[in-house]
Amino acid sequence: MDRQEEFVLRTLEERDIRFVRLWFTDVLGSLKSVAVAPAELEGAFADGIGFDGSAIEGFARVHESDMIARPDPSTFQLLPWRGEYPGVARMFCDILLPDGSPSYADPRWVLKRNLSKASEMGFTFYTHPEIEFFLLRERPEVGSTPVPVDSGGYYDHIPHSVAHDFRRTSITMLEAMGISVEYSHHESAPGQQEIDLRYADALTTADNIMSFRLVMKEVAMEQGVWATFMPKPFTEYPGSGMHTHISLFEGDQNAFYEAGAEWQLSKTARAFIAGLLKHAPEITAVCNQWVNSYKRLWGGAERTAGAGGEAPAYVCWGHNNRSALVRVPMYKPQKGNSTRLEFRSLDAACNPYLAFSVMLAAGMKGVEKGYELPPGAEDDVWALTSAERRALGIKPLPADLNEAIRVMEQSELVAEALGEHVFDFFLRNKREEWADYRRQVTRYELDRYLPML
Ligand code: GLN
Ligand code: MG
Ligand code: MG
Ligand code: MG
Repeated sequence: MDRQEEFVLRTLEERDIRFVRLWFTDVLGSLKSVAVAPAELEGAFADGIGFDGSAIEGFARVHESDMIARPDPSTFQLLPWRGEYPGVARMFCDILLPDGSPSYADPRWVLKRNLSKASEMGFTFYTHPEIEFFLLRERPEVGSTPVPVDSGGYYDHIPHSVAHDFRRTSITMLEAMGISVEYSHHESAPGQQEIDLRYADALTTADNIMSFRLVMKEVAMEQGVWATFMPKPFTEYPGSGMHTHISLFEGDQNAFYEAGAEWQLSKTARAFIAGLLKHAPEITAVCNQWVNSYKRLWGGAERTAGAGGEAPAYVCWGHNNRSALVRVPMYKPQKGNSTRLEFRSLDAACNPYLAFSVMLAAGMKGVEKGYELPPGAEDDVWALTSAERRALGIKPLPADLNEAIRVMEQSELVAEALGEHVFDFFLRNKREEWADYRRQVTRYELDRYLPML
């Protein structure tokens, strides 16, 4: 047993913790959990806990279903919303095959594999997400219309709004779990919140996002409201994104920074942005994985100044340009280790392990191959005509899930980043989602066509 494992066992005893939840994530990004008694943990550290992989989205086919979850002791945390007694703790697990090798279907393993590829080139990948979501008055029922908890807007301070209490309680819980929060505020739409996590290595951030989504849902239910990460629940309001700030470090040096270079951006940073741009359409299905994700990216109608519908739909980069896919923040001149890029298409309903994997793979391809950075777009690209965009070489992101699937199918980069099993499962699952969506006759069609045709 190693020191971290011993620490976990000692803490369980000292704090009288009766339940330990072992967490892992399926291919679509849902959290899975099995509770074990403390007495089972020593065995779990040594050999893992067996489960039926064929019952988990994307894990295995029926004839090869035996899988093992082995807890990672470095992720041990108490779950603060469960109260002091009897205490409940959690650890994230790695998923193994019966022979002890890592499961190719485990999203955490997919990310670890991509991170170690980058580390062989000398780089550590850091991320910092700005997570947006809506607070709704009630738990959604089939056929119900969502109602936001307040009518606030960007940075509004609303007296007596449930949102204050909600943010205070939920952030206190995150901090109690070792997840540091940098900022939180009301976002542009009624009921919309944003909470920004402090930057951390990408594996920690992905684990943190999984914890974050659960904490928000638990605290919301506790307060009689409902938290949703659905990318675009309202036609008339902006959607919820998860802009992600990215940096690469070499040792303790930020590899994106170069004093005196244009915009202080190193060659590595420029090539990384170029990689993200070039491969953006291929990785979109993973970064924006639901039919509904594209209603956010293409929510064009509300894009008037100040409405905050600042989701990107075109492939370009810029500085103060919030319509760009990749933004190099310019709040203060970029300095040394804070140099970073903001990737803006991602939404918080993604599988963060897979999304970070394909983002890293795209950027690193640029670095490996020395891609040239195209000129930045300093205009609002939404305001340009399509001919102007074409003249500037600005391409659109996929317009819907179907288009995103079709581009991904052809992508060697994504196949390699996800591994064949996850790649195939993901595409199969998403084709089914699209087919199911396409056959629906919607309210829009009935309202529009019945009176007219
Ligand atoms: N909600 C917007 C999006 O979907 C972002 C708004 C903002 O943070 N400026 O990306
Ligand atoms: Mg923000
Ligand atoms: Mg925001
Ligand atoms: Mg942002």
